[in-house]
Amino acid sequence: MTGHVCRHCDEEITDPDDAVYLGHKEAASAPGWDVWAHREHVDLVGPDPDAVRILARVLIARALSTRKE
Ligand SMILES: [Zn+2]
Repeated sequence: MTGHVCRHCDEEITDPDDAVYLGHKEAASAPGWDVWAHREHVDLVGPDPDAVRILARVLIARALSTRKE
């Protein structure tokens, strides 16, 4: 067992070879946590609303800062 839980089906990922690391999820009031999924469930994990929002903010900030140059 790996101690990781699949983001898609919420089942524990028992086979280390079947565990795919998706990234670290930031939390406002907590240290955050690592996100994992079964290899065959990676494609089924939908886009993370928080991650998309953070990415959009980064892209907007970058666009605004480079426009002056
Ligand atoms: Zn799964």
